[in-house]
Order: sequence, then structure tokens, then C-alpha cells
Amino acid sequence: MNRKAPKSVPRKRSVSSLTGITRCIYCGGRMNIWQRYSGRRRLACYNRSEGRECLQKSAYLDVYETQIEEYLMSFTIPEDYQQKILEAQQKLYSAYETEDIGKEQAMLEGALERLKELYKWGDKAKGEYLAERAETERRLRALAPITGARAKNLAKLAHFLKNVADAWQVANQEQRNALARSLFQEVWIGDREVIAVRP
Ligand SMILES: [Zn+2]
Repeated sequence: MNRKAPKSVPRKRSVSSLTGITRCIYCGGRMNIWQRYSGRRRLACYNRSEGRECLQKSAYLDVYETQIEEYLMSFTIPEDYQQKILEAQQKLYSAYETEDIGKEQAMLEGALERLKELYKWGDKAKGEYLAERAETERRLRALAPITGARAKNLAKLAHFLKNVADAWQVANQEQRNALARSLFQEVWIGDREVIAVRP
């Protein structure tokens, strides 16, 4: 086979919005993303680009991205379902974290009390008492941000659920890829058309 000089350069390392999740509707093979010298990316069937038989025509990536965006805009998660997801998440947290944090907090507070008693009764030297008190208080303070971070994560999740399409619009290629991967297992590609997505 006589190979022409490539018009496009494969950008294996740079992640595109649809990297790794697109499949060719004709041959079932993977789709490859190529970047033109102009910077505009194209999506093409890998098998066809290798000279194997396939009818898929390549098209600009942004053609498909626009279709995904339209899909996402029509893809709204009902409010009550969002609420359910948040509640489930909250339960998970309370099962795995709150209980442990609560126990550790109570344990540390108890230790602090006992420490004070020991010092009061003269069973502990001042230097030792102060060092142990500082360490226990430090560990107690370290527990507080965990509950704060948890609330923040829930807020983020709620925001994400409400604004998938908005997020897609402002995301760069890598962020779009992360978003697409979290939403779809596969995106099937026909001629200049997203044929099906498998959430
Ligand atoms: Zn193909």
C-alpha cells in the first residue's frame, strides 16, 4: 500500500472530549481523534484509517460535540431524583464517616478530661501535661475540616447534577472527557451523527 504523507497528525497524548468512548457504528471499531495542523480535531474510524473495510466518513469533532451538548441540554435529572441521590450520598457518609468521626471525637474529649484530672491530682508533671494536651487538641481540630469538606462535596454534587450541560459548555477538552466518561459508557458514531449513547 502506498501511503501518502499524513494530512493530520495523531495526537495520542492529548485528551479530546470524546477520547476512549466512541465506537464506529459500521464496523464496531474504535474511533480515533486526529488533530489538523489548523488545530481543529477530526474523529475517524480507526479500522478505516488502517485501510480496513469500513464506510465511516470522518468528520470534525466539534460536529459531534454540538450534538452531545444538545443531548445534555435535554437531559435533565428530575428534582426529586436529585434529592434522592443527595440523601443516598448523605447516608453513605453518615454510615462510613460520621460514626467514626463521632467516636474519635468522643475518645479525644475523654482523653482530654482524664489528662486534666491527672494533672490536677498531681499525677502528671506540668511539661508532660501541656505537651499531651496540645497534641490531643491538635487532633480534635484536625477532625473539624472533614465535616466541612463533606458538606462542600455534597454542594458540588448538587450543582453538578443541575448543571451538566452548563459544565459541558465551559469545559476544556480534558474536562469534557471526564464529564463524558462519567456520563456515558459508549458513544456510537455514524456519518456526522451521534447515533446512540449508552449511559
Ligand atoms: Zn469503522
